[in-house]
Amino acid sequence: MTGHATHHTDAMTLAHTVPNESATILVCNCGSSSIKFAVVQPSDGTQPISGIAECLGSDNANVQWRRDEGQRQHQALAGADHGQALQAIVAIIDQAQIPAPLAVGHRVVHGGDRFTASALLDAAMLQEIQAVSHLAPLHNPANLEGIAAAQAAYPSLPQVAVFDTAFHQTMPQHAYRYAVPEAWYRDHGVRRYGFHGTSHRFVAHQAAMLLDQEPCSLALVTAHLGNGCSAAAVLGGQAVDTSMGLTPLEGLVMGTRSGDIDPGIIAFMAQRLGRSAEAITNALNKESGLLGLSDGLSNDMRQLVEARDNGHPGAALAIDVFCYRLAKHIAGLAVAMGRLDAVVFTGGIGENAVPIRSQVLSHLHLFDIQEDPQRNARHGAMSNGRISQDDGGIALVVPTNEELQIARETLAVVREAEGESA
Ligand code: ADP
Repeated sequence: MTGHATHHTDAMTLAHTVPNESATILVCNCGSSSIKFAVVQPSDGTQPISGIAECLGSDNANVQWRRDEGQRQHQALAGADHGQALQAIVAIIDQAQIPAPLAVGHRVVHGGDRFTASALLDAAMLQEIQAVSHLAPLHNPANLEGIAAAQAAYPSLPQVAVFDTAFHQTMPQHAYRYAVPEAWYRDHGVRRYGFHGTSHRFVAHQAAMLLDQEPCSLALVTAHLGNGCSAAAVLGGQAVDTSMGLTPLEGLVMGTRSGDIDPGIIAFMAQRLGRSAEAITNALNKESGLLGLSDGLSNDMRQLVEARDNGHPGAALAIDVFCYRLAKHIAGLAVAMGRLDAVVFTGGIGENAVPIRSQVLSHLHLFDIQEDPQRNARHGAMSNGRISQDDGGIALVVPTNEELQIARETLAVVREAEGESA
């Protein structure tokens, strides 16, 4: 399979140049039964309005939103589908009396190896996204449904797809290939793609700013730790390896996903339980990870930390495995770069879980990284994100902002397209 370079590669460079204009972008993240949305000002990240439509397709469908930092508002949308929900969202944005957005930026989970950058959506692009949808059957169809609904709601606005996978397309072949029969790769696209690319790209760039260095000079491991977790090696601003693979199941221990396991377990457990491979894979996605290790206690790290502190052995084990496996991946990713200038924590766990960061760093003394407990307790707020001691290796906390990154990339793609057609 060959990479398909879009004509928007330069837009990625532009996307990191903070625009000094007042245009806003509507950012949409469509799931199978939800639409997260935000009108974002790419120049400063402010969100004049943001919200979520949930339970779409059911009697409980509803939309919640807030203006700036104001009160949350709520409207029932019983039985609404994606299209009807987006119409309601457009009406809410209109009523908010804020300037109309310049374009719509869509999160699209899987771009396969066809998309190396964000892309302006036209009929051909939609077909290409459709063509890779078998790689993310739970996500891409919902993303496409959201795009169709947004096109119907805003027929005159440019729409841009921002892919979770695109940032990782710079991985070298030895990092993205599996040691499986060549025909699996050639005929079925079985390779590592990586996800959370928007977040890894954003925090790698922010980390360079906090360190007062050019992104091109740095070797970083970024660890995005939310419900899903992944780590990436970012050398000179480009991804060179990552922990997730063909699907978001590979790599780190996550809320309900197992991360790396012996692939032999699937056939073994299918046979032991008399269940299908799909059923076992489903259990690896939904009943494993922190939830599985804690014997069903919780997939929520906050709850697990509390339970461990109260003596729950399952919670302690889940946290121990989570931290050890993350540290092991960080060390492995350093190999991809030949050095490690900084480890960057982000996502709900990475940004907030002081004891988890502390435990991960305790495994990384071979990189000469020593936690500074006071800085860690303040999430690096008073020390440019730094939670490690001044001498020695660097660990940072960098809040992610995927909406802002999507808004910036969308604006950059639109501006570049305007330049091309001028
Ligand atoms: P998503 O991937 O759904 O966007 P988030 O990035 O919001 O998820 O991360 C959710 C995770 O962050 C949950 O496991 C949650 O418990 C954890 N988290 C949030 N705040 C804290 C905290 N103060 N301490 C520990 N874990 C936290």
